[in-house]
Amino acid sequence: MEQYDVIIVGSGLAGLTSAVELCDQGAKVLVLEKEKVIGGRTSSWDEDGMLVESGFHRHIGYYKALPYILKKVGVNVDSIVQWEENVDVRIKGKKDVATFGVSPIFGPIDLLKGILGNNDILSLKDKFSLMGFFINGFIDYLRNPDSLDRWNVRDYAKKHQVNEDALHYAVIPLSAGIFFLPPERYSAKVFFGLFFPAIPRFYRMRIGAYLGGMTELLAQPIANYIEGKKGTIQTNAKVQNLIVDEGNVQGVELEDGSRFHAKHVILATDLGGAKKILKENFLNHPSLKSLFQLPTMPAVTIQMEFLKPVLPYDRTTFGPLTSLASFAEQSRSTFTHVPGRLSIILTPPEKFLAMEKEEILKQVQKEARELGLDLETNLTKYRIVSRPEDFYSLEPNHDRLRPNQKTDIDGLILAGDYTKQPYYATMEGAVVSGLKAASLILNNVKK
Ligand SMILES: Cc1cc2nc3c(=O)[nH]c(=O)nc-3n(C[C@H](O)[C@H](O)[C@H](O)COP(=O)(O)OP(=O)(O)OC[C@H]3O[C@@H](n4cnc5c(N)ncnc54)[C@H](O)[C@@H]3O)c2cc1C
Repeated sequence: MEQYDVIIVGSGLAGLTSAVELCDQGAKVLVLEKEKVIGGRTSSWDEDGMLVESGFHRHIGYYKALPYILKKVGVNVDSIVQWEENVDVRIKGKKDVATFGVSPIFGPIDLLKGILGNNDILSLKDKFSLMGFFINGFIDYLRNPDSLDRWNVRDYAKKHQVNEDALHYAVIPLSAGIFFLPPERYSAKVFFGLFFPAIPRFYRMRIGAYLGGMTELLAQPIANYIEGKKGTIQTNAKVQNLIVDEGNVQGVELEDGSRFHAKHVILATDLGGAKKILKENFLNHPSLKSLFQLPTMPAVTIQMEFLKPVLPYDRTTFGPLTSLASFAEQSRSTFTHVPGRLSIILTPPEKFLAMEKEEILKQVQKEARELGLDLETNLTKYRIVSRPEDFYSLEPNHDRLRPNQKTDIDGLILAGDYTKQPYYATMEGAVVSGLKAASLILNNVKK
């Protein structure tokens, strides 16, 4: 039986990052992925004749670890994204779209116009109320981030006298629009924590739309690099269980019964996947108590193809107070092979998990009409992509339950966006967790 130095379960950004770092140091690495494509939540594939992805993603200009790993494998971020300096907010019943600049350096005029303009949506009073909310939020985050986790965004906004319009048209797009959760279910720690790294790196702030499917742009070049360094990646390889001897993890067993041994196993699955693999041997292990207590959260998207573009440009757009949390036309950036393409992230996700595909389509089309969008006339295809328990819950009081990469179990290390790192459930967070997991093994070897 072949013996590996490290087995990595999961080929998302966390697992692939760990593999790069370990292969670089000469470790014999095996990556096992249950799906037929690599990339996890950053993957794209053909779904019954339509190209889809796990959901539309934005590369945030302040990210550091993801560009580091991409550079290592020969990919320059600028060559794979189309940068956006603005976001749009579409408001029910209003004809005009509100545009807000996000980049002080690359789009300073748009930034100022966004703040000083949009007065029919946000009055001067609303804007002042938002200023207090953000300043206090960032100060609290700096002083004691954990105290913010006790607050949900709606209550924290109320505490700082944010007006209803400001809550609806600025705060909701930034909570429901980014992590599909309404403000009353969204931790204020996560809300401010996501924007916090943008303050010292304000000069890099922009939003990147990927210029192609994410497996092809992100995961595949990383995988090529790993294989070039003699690492092995196996798809359609679902890990069922860990091989445990006297409490030490010594390998993994796949669904088909095949077994692989290694000195270390990095469990780099999503949270739902980790719970399933760990429960047989470690359900009551003190080191994993919080992992089992941390709830999961779903994500649901609808992806649609049209005979012509629905929107005049490819730009991140929010639809507050509707189920269309955020959406983007993608026919000029990510999916250029079709004349029109829209990807929509739905909120609240739980509601859509329980619905039939057709029912979801009807509901989305109805609510899109209220935002001034016709998603019926030129529609040719649509697919629903659901990820029932891939996310950890970003609701208040859950952040403290996120486990460390290091466990007290010999041979077992965790990675994944749900493990402790400061970038929450993002690509950057996944990469940081993968770097941390790899360094635990590499530092151990050096000692
Ligand atoms: C709709 C949507 C929109 C998003 N938008 C953004 C965005 O704009 N910007 C951003 O930064 N982030 C965004 N994210 C979040 C980002 O995709 C994730 O944080 C990140 O990709 C997580 O990477 P990961 O490696 O931790 O986990 P994953 O990518 O989930 O990887 C885990 C892997 O483990 C595999 N696995 C699970 N169980 C097993 C098993 N038993 N055996 C073998 N393999 C297994 C899974 O198949 C998967 O490939 C978005 C996510 C979604 C779903």
